Amino acid sequence: MNNLKNQQWQERFGWIYYNENEIFHSNQKQIDDLVKNYADDGITILIGFSCTHFRWNHVLNWREINECIGRYVKACHKYGIRYVEHHSSHLTYNPIGQEQIDAVEKAFAFHGSSTKSWAGFLEYSQGDPVINGKNISTFRQISGATGKFARSNYRGYCMCFNNPDYRKEYFKYLESVYDQDIDGIMTDDVQYFGQGWWGDWSACTCIHCRKLFKEQTGYDIPQPEQWNDFYENYSNPVYIAWKKFKHASTTRFAHDVNRHFESLGYKLLRPNYISSIVRENPTSYPFENCTDLWDFVFQENISLIVIKESFYDVATEAIHRFAMARHKSIPSMSMFYPRTDDSLYFAWGLCKIWGQLFTQCSRNLKGQMKEYIYRNFEIKHKQFYEAPQKISDLAFLLSADTRDFSIGNKVTMRRFATWLQASYAYGFMTDMVFENEDIDIYSKFKYIVLCNTKMLSDSMLSKLYKYVENGGNLIIIGPFAVYDDKGQSDPQRVERVFTKLPSTPGIKKINKGSIFVIEDSECIDHYQNSVRVPNYMDEYALTNPTPDYVIDALKQTGGKALYSIIQQKNIEASSSMQIIYSLYKHGDNAAINIMNVDKAVSKNNEQVSLSTPIEGYTLNSQKAAAVDLSVKLDFLPKAIIACIPESNEEKVIHFIEINNRIHFSIPKNTFYGYCLVKVYG
Ligand SMILES: [Zn+2]
Repeated sequence: MNNLKNQQWQERFGWIYYNENEIFHSNQKQIDDLVKNYADDGITILIGFSCTHFRWNHVLNWREINECIGRYVKACHKYGIRYVEHHSSHLTYNPIGQEQIDAVEKAFAFHGSSTKSWAGFLEYSQGDPVINGKNISTFRQISGATGKFARSNYRGYCMCFNNPDYRKEYFKYLESVYDQDIDGIMTDDVQYFGQGWWGDWSACTCIHCRKLFKEQTGYDIPQPEQWNDFYENYSNPVYIAWKKFKHASTTRFAHDVNRHFESLGYKLLRPNYISSIVRENPTSYPFENCTDLWDFVFQENISLIVIKESFYDVATEAIHRFAMARHKSIPSMSMFYPRTDDSLYFAWGLCKIWGQLFTQCSRNLKGQMKEYIYRNFEIKHKQFYEAPQKISDLAFLLSADTRDFSIGNKVTMRRFATWLQASYAYGFMTDMVFENEDIDIYSKFKYIVLCNTKMLSDSMLSKLYKYVENGGNLIIIGPFAVYDDKGQSDPQRVERVFTKLPSTPGIKKINKGSIFVIEDSECIDHYQNSVRVPNYMDEYALTNPTPDYVIDALKQTGGKALYSIIQQKNIEASSSMQIIYSLYKHGDNAAINIMNVDKAVSKNNEQVSLSTPIEGYTLNSQKAAAVDLSVKLDFLPKAIIACIPESNEEKVIHFIEINNRIHFSIPKNTFYGYCLVKVYG
């Protein structure tokens, strides 16, 4: 089954668990039956998920785990499904104190297991066992703040990607997994941690990192007593160099995983994901730097979020993944944990709005939710879902330099995300470009927004100037190119390398293009955050209040400010109910996706849980109000047809063309939650 890398847009991902029962007490027939459920739902790729995710705690059961993986692979191949193995590459549970011990026990109980069921778990979590003559503790990341073992944010230790002994043993383990004939591999958590809480990323300063860093940069990593002055001091070139070194170390490791399996003759699928990266990448996760490796890039919309309340937050990540995937012409995807049929439908609809593949990871209700309805709908209308080309109004430049290496990056990136969200909420087809893309990509966008882009290299400034010269339009918001990529500040640099900026607000024309400068304060300083429940393991009982509703205020401020410059949208839609929508080109055709979100985000601080019903997506929902649309297309449609997943009915929509725009209405009572409008070219 290896060597299949085509037809990526037709893949449908699912997640399959293997826990204590499957590892120790299952036979091939039972696993075959389990996998058949997924085949019936239309799944084509299954990713394994296990309570043995922290694989290094289970060294004494590696043989049984591999045998179990082997049964899953066999079952998958029987049904034409590809199997991707997925585990943590280096994290271990090492709970300290009763509270942490109880929490780890609870995590195992959630998966129907107990730490006591695993040979040597206690020794491997509390002791220092020897692996092929090496103490496991010698593999560990070291915190620069303490000089001691770094703690992950998961009640344990972590290992260093620059440690040759760790690499050797891990790659050897991977070989034993590859022997099971798997089709893909995900080596999770390639990240540097610190002291075990969010905000401290002081690893790694192990002897291997110190030596390599010195060799590569000539600098020394400071000792713990100098750490306070060093850590997050972005005016210190040594700190920036160390952070870049960490990025380079994880990037090298990710590439070495590929080089290793390729050297063994394997061609494995490499899906990869991160929950959020638009605002920060504090753990040096090798994601954007490894686009050459990934076959699918996705976001995990974590199990704690109430989907209907959180999609305006998650949408900013979807813009990022879509743009990142386009860079390599591969699909992007969203992974959700819906707990009810209506949240499954809602989450699937969001993926269609965002031009993404959909995948869901809800173990508890597997087999009860009707995923096949949406999968069948996708297959039936596949020419309106595959390889979407976003018909974008504008693109935001995500400057990884600003995000990762500039002073005050947390504040600047919050402003960046707020403007991005305002643009999305306003209904702009909002896109993203990256520093490592060349000018041909930039020139595909009529407007590029530089929002709080504090750090820009000289070469970036030259590229942006050329973009404007060639007819592009830059919208500059807030601080701009204050630092070069070494963190140095020179007040004359922008004028020297780029051009003198107009006063704020102002416009400067250069050749066929323009530079617009607007005040950062034009957009409110309030981001619509996700709503999380306190604990995913008690999903039905727990509620949390929703935050203040700021979407309308974002539209009225940031959205309007952008519209005052751009003055049109490629798709305009209005309705008496609140909707979200999108427009993509698919070959000669176009697809418009509409969702009724009228009752989705609460407007008055309600208590919500993971199972709060979503009007429009439940069985007894009212049908939706009419929607008036106007779209800008580069072709005159042959026909426009509306269809919905709830029935086979298709509605022919009449349209007119005025001033190069197509106008039409979706009549009331056409759809409930989601509507696909097929525009035939
Ligand atoms: Zn290290």
